[in-house]
Amino acid sequence: MSKKPTFIMCICTGQCPGFKTLDLWELVNTVRREMDVEYAIVHPQLCVDDGDRFIKDYIQKDGLYIIGA
Ligand code: SF4
Repeated sequence: MSKKPTFIMCICTGQCPGFKTLDLWELVNTVRREMDVEYAIVHPQLCVDDGDRFIKDYIQKDGLYIIGA
């Protein structure tokens, strides 16, 4: 049985102008409901130290991930 991908949404601290009109929770809930994913999660800023630690701890070699950013 092949594993479904995990969706990880990076929200760029919530302050990035590019995200101003994004309804984050609607997006994540749409992904959960309508895409064939294991589950969806949100991270505030993947490209800083704690984001690196999250990726190191969480991402598995044989895993499948979709990252929205
Ligand atoms: S990974 Fe991309 S979307 Fe996420 S905080 Fe960094 S620049 Fe923003």
